[in-house]
Amino acid sequence: MKTETKCLHAGYEPKNGEPRQIPIYQSTTFKYSTSDEMGKLFDLEASGYFYTRLQNPTNDAVAAKIAALEGGVAGMLTSSGQAANFFALFNICEAGSHIVASSSIYGGTFNLLGVTMKKMGIDCTFVDQNLPEEELAKAFKPNTRAVFGETITNPTVSVLDIEKFARLAHSHGVPLIVDNTFATPVNCQPIKWGADIVTHSTTKYMDGHAVGVGGAIVDSGNFDWMQYADKYPGLTTPDESYHGIVYAEKFGKLAYITKATSQLMRDLGSIQSPQNAFYLMNGLESLHLRMERHCKNALEIAKFLKSNDKVAWVDYPDLEGDKYNELAKKYLPNGSCGVLAFGLKGGREKSIKFMDSLKLASIATHVADAKTCLLHPASHTHRQMTEQQLLEAGIAPDLIRLSVGIENVDDLIDDLKQAFDKV
Ligand SMILES: *Cc1c(COP(=O)(O)O)cnc(C)c1O
Repeated sequence: MKTETKCLHAGYEPKNGEPRQIPIYQSTTFKYSTSDEMGKLFDLEASGYFYTRLQNPTNDAVAAKIAALEGGVAGMLTSSGQAANFFALFNICEAGSHIVASSSIYGGTFNLLGVTMKKMGIDCTFVDQNLPEEELAKAFKPNTRAVFGETITNPTVSVLDIEKFARLAHSHGVPLIVDNTFATPVNCQPIKWGADIVTHSTTKYMDGHAVGVGGAIVDSGNFDWMQYADKYPGLTTPDESYHGIVYAEKFGKLAYITKATSQLMRDLGSIQSPQNAFYLMNGLESLHLRMERHCKNALEIAKFLKSNDKVAWVDYPDLEGDKYNELAKKYLPNGSCGVLAFGLKGGREKSIKFMDSLKLASIATHVADAKTCLLHPASHTHRQMTEQQLLEAGIAPDLIRLSVGIENVDDLIDDLKQAFDKV
């Protein structure tokens, strides 16, 4: 199946007489006829459902669709994008581990890695993702366990050179984890370019309608944990909490997701609710159509902004001459996403006045859904960062993040025009 068809048909195939749309298995628990049958599930000797804190059939169907879209072997849903990125890393890191991450990543993930995981004894070195390979190699340490980046960064819309990062990670014997939230698998499949694990905030384009917070993790099954067994004892040595099974031996290519489900979900319990998974399933069915329109509208608006003399600068990877246009042509040939960043002449004050004057586009702590919205990261999502950190993350104080929706683009441009008239 091609991507568009997978959006509709992958993950859930009803049998004769079964519901056409995935049912919401709104049940915390599942019934068994014998004690022995349920016991096998607790030993990971058989697969099946017993408690929704670990797994639920609605979630699994949706996760299977996302895994199919990304070209991975297995996937899982989490309660949020934050939980997805935390689980993706914590599944292979522990106190004493080290991560190399792009400094341009989403503010929430920056805090997760730089503050909260640091308290857990997991260190992170943030790097400028545009540095040449030799420079980036200096960030690696003997205890490095993962490399992390975003296909298109939130909010600076920088495009990651995935092949460069995959080469770096693999030459240091660690996997590359890519947060593919903004591009979605419709526009880029990082696994094709060498990423080992892909994460999502499904809250964004995948859901598409701003109704459910959620996340997803997909494993390519390509990273050979056994080859680097000393680095990943959690996958390559016995898990005493499951009678000494060794995930990499027992589950092969499914080891990573099986461990994340049966160990992290069991202990930390950040599963997506089946109701939200159902909304997500519906969102995924039209993802390919929406992404096309988001990109078309965003490119038109980027061009409009670029030609406006009140605008100081515009960053949008699909724009000819943008500093990421070459990378976008390679990794995102059908379009990047609906998000763009720009600043007004006159700086921060003017930018805020402009935002407050918009009528159709709403100020919202959200991004990447069907309705156009915008936000000023320095005053909102990234307000915890120091000026220096903002600078390192490439976030100018006047940066406005505009998330272009799927409205008629003329209406959006009219709204921008009337707001420009007021500044
Ligand atoms: C929003 C976002 C997250 C966090 O996801 P939540 O669903 O809000 O927890 C992580 N990464 C990126 C790129 C995001 O845009």
